[in-house]
Amino acid sequence: MALSDRIYLRRRAALVDVIRSKGVCHDAVLAAVGAVARERFVDPALRNQAYEDAALPIGFKQTISQPFTVAYQTTLLNLFPGDKVLEIGTGSGYQAAILCEMGMRVFSVERHRVLHLRARNILAELDYRVVTRHGDGTGGWSACAPFDGIIVTAGALEVPESLVRQLRVPEEGKRGGRLVIPVGDRSKQVMMRIVRTAPDAVSQERFDTFRFVPLI
Ligand code: SAH
Repeated sequence: MALSDRIYLRRRAALVDVIRSKGVCHDAVLAAVGAVARERFVDPALRNQAYEDAALPIGFKQTISQPFTVAYQTTLLNLFPGDKVLEIGTGSGYQAAILCEMGMRVFSVERHRVLHLRARNILAELDYRVVTRHGDGTGGWSACAPFDGIIVTAGALEVPESLVRQLRVPEEGKRGGRLVIPVGDRSKQVMMRIVRTAPDAVSQERFDTFRFVPLI
């Protein structure tokens, strides 16, 4: 193993401790953070900062989310292996890799073409099987619906109705789908979870505030 790999391994383990100390206690989420090579999803010039618990620029005024935020949102999705998950805002591809590492079937949409292509390449290189699409994700991905989880990784002014419609309806043996989305204006957003509880009913919960790049 190269020296740099050993250093990254050690830093990755330390990052897991940091995220745990901030209150995330979902074992599968922490294991995924401990397994995904975040340095491969950041600009090579910033690799040295890959395991700081911070968002980093990925170009085009976009960012790879802070690892704590990734862990927080993933925990709220309340997933089980094999669940079908849609991500809006592929960005670097890191969040998609975390979901894949946890054994989910992952679909991800990115509106920025260069970011979409870059993420698609790195995910394939690392053997993460994510179905990616270039386009506007606010309408969801109806051809692949329903989803057990939908995660929006950009700040929305309101909850897109089309995403709620693409959440799985609960039925025998299958739980209702969960949408995790930061909602608010540009300055800050409240993390919200919308759960499909019946064919025409949802529950809504509000969690902590965050600051995301805007959903366009
Ligand atoms: N999940 C990413 C974080 C990406 S930042 C990661 O792990 O790195 C948010 C991303 O959402 C940006 O790349 C931005 O281009 C994208 N985005 C914003 N509005 C969008 C929309 N309507 N549809 C799809 N992607 C969108």
